[in-house]
Amino acid sequence: MPKALPPSDLKLLIEPNDAAPSPLQEVGIAYWTLLGVDPETNEPKWEQRVSALPYKTWSSGAHYAAAAAVTATLPGYSCATCDAELTLTSRQALADTLAGKAVACRACHKRVDEQAAKILEPRSLERRTQRAAEALKQEATVQEARELEQSRREVIADRYPVATNDQEDLLSNASLLAKLGAWR
Ligand SMILES: [Zn+2]
Repeated sequence: MPKALPPSDLKLLIEPNDAAPSPLQEVGIAYWTLLGVDPETNEPKWEQRVSALPYKTWSSGAHYAAAAAVTATLPGYSCATCDAELTLTSRQALADTLAGKAVACRACHKRVDEQAAKILEPRSLERRTQRAAEALKQEATVQEARELEQSRREVIADRYPVATNDQEDLLSNASLLAKLGAWR
């Protein structure tokens, strides 16, 4: 059983991988940004949901993208297999560790490093970096169009504060007396 740290002292050591381009490093850092540990359930609480992370241009698995981007170590804990300092393969590995389960380090999980190596293979990395940049650009274009549409609406609303010409609308807004007048 690895020695347990009180949850409030729990800190992950995140080391960015120099071979990873910075947009990929950012995904890895975001993947491992821990808010804290729930004192009741002992479960880790993450700043962002996995689905909110832009990892898909890098890998089909967020933890693979994160593994290519950074190395996350949980100081004070050791690998259940090789006894080295515990490097984490995924968020689940941290949850399992906190639940008292035996967890193996990255070096003992060949698949994670294999997937990370695939992402970092130079030609694939170039392609993925390009795709990630395009995805970001597209996102910015969509955002820009949204803002333009919003400001266009505001201009119209300013210019025509009462846009309704609907007779019924006007009637229902008028006082009862005025309405009676209108029917006369
Ligand atoms: Zn190990």
